[in-house]
Amino acid sequence: MEKNGFSHLLCMDFESWVVSRKINKYNLSNAKLRQLDNDYIVSALQFVLDVLKKYNQKITFFVVFKLEELYPGLLKKIQAEGHEIGWHGYSHSYIDNEKILKNELEASKNLLQKYHVKGFQAPNIVFFKEGYNILKDWGFLYSSSTYGNSGRIYNFDGIYELPVSVANQSYNPSISDISFPSSISLENLFRFGIPFGSSYFWSILKKEYYAKKLSAYSKKGEVANLFIHNWQLIMPKSKSKKYIPDEQESFLKNPLFLPYKISVNNMFEHLLANFSFQTCMEYLKSRKIV
Ligand SMILES: [Zn+2]
Repeated sequence: MEKNGFSHLLCMDFESWVVSRKINKYNLSNAKLRQLDNDYIVSALQFVLDVLKKYNQKITFFVVFKLEELYPGLLKKIQAEGHEIGWHGYSHSYIDNEKILKNELEASKNLLQKYHVKGFQAPNIVFFKEGYNILKDWGFLYSSSTYGNSGRIYNFDGIYELPVSVANQSYNPSISDISFPSSISLENLFRFGIPFGSSYFWSILKKEYYAKKLSAYSKKGEVANLFIHNWQLIMPKSKSKKYIPDEQESFLKNPLFLPYKISVNNMFEHLLANFSFQTCMEYLKSRKIV
């Protein structure tokens, strides 16, 4: 196993627990959110940027844009290191209807323009078909908001959709057969197999599985499309008793969260050391799509 000329996608969903559905419902002030976050996001970003630099890899960061409001300068810092900035919504809400998509876009308007953002990854891979048309109106070029065969690129209303990798290679639906949302449900698991592109599976399937998969994809000349979260590398810790991140919740309260509680730092470095990755825009350019 060694790095060859073939590059895969390993996107970073960059977020903080203080901007999550769990905390959003309290409508806390930005000052209070900053206090709760306690500079977690600043150190998490530094950590991630340092690791990427160590392995000389440039990737796409899908950022929750409200974080820029809490810590102005985050986006500039990511861009200055040569990474691509994509949009992961404004508040990390489920984006499954027109109203919420437009609200999230409006709240992010200035930054989307300032950073010429072209890509979108829906929080929790929950999106809706009619949303592509709206993304197009807002100047987006691509999205990675479905699970599917990452060797295929779809075009919904002028937006290129890059599916996050799934295990079932024979899952190859035509565009009209793709159902939304494409999130992890039992029905979807039967349809497309384990969506190993989601970092939920990193701690379950382990690094050997991923190394094998990426090698096999490289051999076939097919791109694997994976994403990971900053908080799987550096876990946040709250000093508050009332507001705490899922990472600190008891196992019994949310047993399904367990795989996310295990640090995958080691694996992140292993993949960066052994495979080559690219930004989504670079990938689309290499396919001569944009
Ligand atoms: Zn997310």
